[in-house]
Amino acid sequence: GFKCGIVGLPNVGKSTLFNALTKAGIDAENFPFCTIEPNTGVVPVPDPRQDALAAIVKPERVVPTTMEFVDIAGLVAGASKGEGLGNQFLANIRETDAIAHVVRCFDNDNVIHVANKVDPVADIEVINTELALADLDSVEKQLLKLQKKAKGQDKEAIVQVEVLQRILPHLNEAKPLRSMALSEDEKRMLDTHFHLMTLKPTMYIANVDEDGFFNNPLLDQVTRIAEAEGAQVVAICNKLESEIAELEDEERDEFLADLGMDEPGLNKVIRAGYELLGLHTYFTAGVKEVRAWTVRIGATAPQAAGVIHTDFEKGFIRAETIAYNDFIQYKGEQGAKEAGKMRLEGKEYVVKDGDVMHFRFNV
Ligand code: GDP
Repeated sequence: GFKCGIVGLPNVGKSTLFNALTKAGIDAENFPFCTIEPNTGVVPVPDPRQDALAAIVKPERVVPTTMEFVDIAGLVAGASKGEGLGNQFLANIRETDAIAHVVRCFDNDNVIHVANKVDPVADIEVINTELALADLDSVEKQLLKLQKKAKGQDKEAIVQVEVLQRILPHLNEAKPLRSMALSEDEKRMLDTHFHLMTLKPTMYIANVDEDGFFNNPLLDQVTRIAEAEGAQVVAICNKLESEIAELEDEERDEFLADLGMDEPGLNKVIRAGYELLGLHTYFTAGVKEVRAWTVRIGATAPQAAGVIHTDFEKGFIRAETIAYNDFIQYKGEQGAKEAGKMRLEGKEYVVKDGDVMHFRFNV
């Protein structure tokens, strides 16, 4: 699965967010280091399009696609040097595909802040520094190994050494690699071989109070940092979201309506995470089920078929494809077909977001 890691200083509201995301009921206590084990939650990706499809097809069931959030424990100043939970968190972050960085933008005397002061800029700096220093550490170690290989004229090692030496000064200044100009090939190489954390796509989740969505200087500070990095910010009140997540469907709708919200704020977080991971969705729409499937942006039709079953990919012949908007406009497969909107796509076809697909394959 595709994983988005939730990081942030202690007591910024990570577990509260994670609990709301999974309703897993993990203790969110007012206590630093309370989230010690990495926790993974599988979350359905909210997508109103699947309901619109279901309204036409009237299937027995609707199956959303999912993504994973991992609650990552105890990142504190000095963590890259073994402070707090030490290096435990680093291994967990390395395994994720993207990072959601939770930043505290609410003031509350009852909730202890690790540095005794609510200061999003300083908090972000602490986390980014620790991640950069941890990357620095692993780059230095890898360089020692690779330089020997490079001396032996190993071509791949020579290229890797060159790139690692180039990123070293940047990390030495504790700057995240995502702010460095690197080619796509270089990024891919670094990601595949070295799992560097500051290269992972990152978004900021500003945890605000119920009344902190507007005129909130703390939130503005986070927005400015994100803009400078080209990162996204999602503002959310995690405490409110954890309350919303406790409610049954009907109660929830009423509660949301009272708040003037048309959906839980969590949906924004999930969709932003999904986007951050570079994913999008295609659908299958049959009478048995309407189902959303996840593919990486850029995936071809056979690769998309492979998400359903490896045999579909191996034996792929073609994909009957209807664009989502056409499927809706012509009220289903039959109508779209009659309007000439069903395409027969082959092996090279790059799947578009929302495509409704039916695969033909050899067994
Ligand atoms: P973590 O250490 O980052 O996982 O933080 P927690 O999720 O355990 O939250 C720490 C404390 O802050 C808990 O007592 C939460 O109830 C409280 N908290 C979390 N989010 C909010 C919020 O949006 N507003 C307020 N006032 N308190 C919050």
